[in-house]
Amino acid sequence: MALFQSIKTPVLTYEQPLGLFINNEFIKGVAGRTFETINPHNEKPIVAVHEGAEEDVNIAVKAARTALNGEWKTITPSERGRLLLRLADFLERDIETLAAIEALDNGKSVTMAKGDVNNSAGCLRYYGGWSDKIYGQTIDTDSNSLTYTRHEPVGVCGQIIPWNFPLLMFAWKIGPALATGNTIVIKTAEQTPLSALYVAKLIKEAGFPPGVVNVISGFGRTAGAAIASHMDIDKVAFTGSTLVGRHIMKAAADSNLKKVTLELGGKSPNIILPDANLEDAIEWVNLGIFFNHGQCCCAGSRILVHEDIYHKFLELFKKRTEQNKVGDPFHSETFQGPQVSQLQYDRIMGYIKDGKGAGATVVTGGDRHGSEGYYIQPTIFADVDENMTIVKEEIFGPVCTVQKFSTEEEAIRVANSTNYGLAAAVHTTNINTAIRVSNAVKAGTVWVNNYNTLHYQMPFGGFKESGIGRELGSYALENYTEVKTVRVHLQKS
Ligand code: ADP
Repeated sequence: MALFQSIKTPVLTYEQPLGLFINNEFIKGVAGRTFETINPHNEKPIVAVHEGAEEDVNIAVKAARTALNGEWKTITPSERGRLLLRLADFLERDIETLAAIEALDNGKSVTMAKGDVNNSAGCLRYYGGWSDKIYGQTIDTDSNSLTYTRHEPVGVCGQIIPWNFPLLMFAWKIGPALATGNTIVIKTAEQTPLSALYVAKLIKEAGFPPGVVNVISGFGRTAGAAIASHMDIDKVAFTGSTLVGRHIMKAAADSNLKKVTLELGGKSPNIILPDANLEDAIEWVNLGIFFNHGQCCCAGSRILVHEDIYHKFLELFKKRTEQNKVGDPFHSETFQGPQVSQLQYDRIMGYIKDGKGAGATVVTGGDRHGSEGYYIQPTIFADVDENMTIVKEEIFGPVCTVQKFSTEEEAIRVANSTNYGLAAAVHTTNINTAIRVSNAVKAGTVWVNNYNTLHYQMPFGGFKESGIGRELGSYALENYTEVKTVRVHLQKS
């Protein structure tokens, strides 16, 4: 099978790389297998890509190890930064193509996809700026010593990313790893391999030496598991489900105790207090749950509303939700496209059925949208109780529950009654309430009077079972450096 193919999208035609990207070349997998990626809008295959498995991961790790000890080591930190800046420029140059690829492969609207491209470029540029600002400390212990620390690259980093933001997750992962001088073997999600392969071409064009970034398209149980248990990978960074996160951590422990960072699931509370600006709050609640079709680990899926405004809130939120345009990702008006896959569609519809069966009230939605593609109506459940599955488990789709509370203490208790702790929000016009509630909720990010406004300068990650470590901001750099302490004994003159 070919290594490149021309692909026609509704807006443009482009050349799609199909091979595994190892040593700056697109190649076939050792076993010669391929797999198809599906267009979630019409459920038809887009193209088949070459599949990587354990043998291919081994080859990629060798390439990454060789690069780490070779040319990459001699490149100055400033030059590393320049390469990242150049890559960011190329993403922006090719924004139309990259956005079309994301819309085709993932199902998100082209408009949203352009936002992802810009954020990915911003993230790479941000870390490009960090490249020559990574340094340790000098520590004065006594007059007979000179002690200093070096922040050295961890080494070969394995990175495993999900399908909800294929390009953005790629940028979040490679940015801090490259800024700090590591080399990479990254596995994309089997549902959405296309944009990363396109960026791989740009990585070569930007001038990164061979082997610094290697991209494997493949499945979790084969290629993903091979990364997690590899004896020559020094660190694994994973974004995905809590279930798989546990596997990764076990595999890391059972192999070479590679460093682990995990960004996992969530069931994030969005608290609306009676003094909130209701109109604004509803905009943010809508964006909080329905942005990216609910396929965000930080989605505000549990909406907690004070009893005094509960009925008014439900009425306005229903109206707002019904205005969301669901449809073809290539239509300029579209806000919500299809879910990414048949599997996700079935899972979400299963939760909706479960909610109905448990006696929750469907305020709006609750069904498939249209007759083709993995489209689901934006769905609001009310009259739920804390023990219902739809309140407890991450649905990862356009489905939320609305619960009523009567006191701030109750809101905090309910907000925290989950094993997750990725994000939360509070809507109020009282600064004291805002800070009190923000301090009390156990979550890695708390938004006050907004939601889902991530930024590459701000750390992101989870409390509790939502993860380990922080991505983005300067905090992410810590995941990618080993601190070495050097103590020099000074000879007496
Ligand atoms: P989802 O259920 O939303 O698809 P997953 O956590 O299963 O999320 O997938 C996220 C990423 O983890 C994907 O790249 C997937 O291939 C990978 N993955 C899945 N299972 C494993 C595994 N056992 N080991 C390593 N990676 C895995």
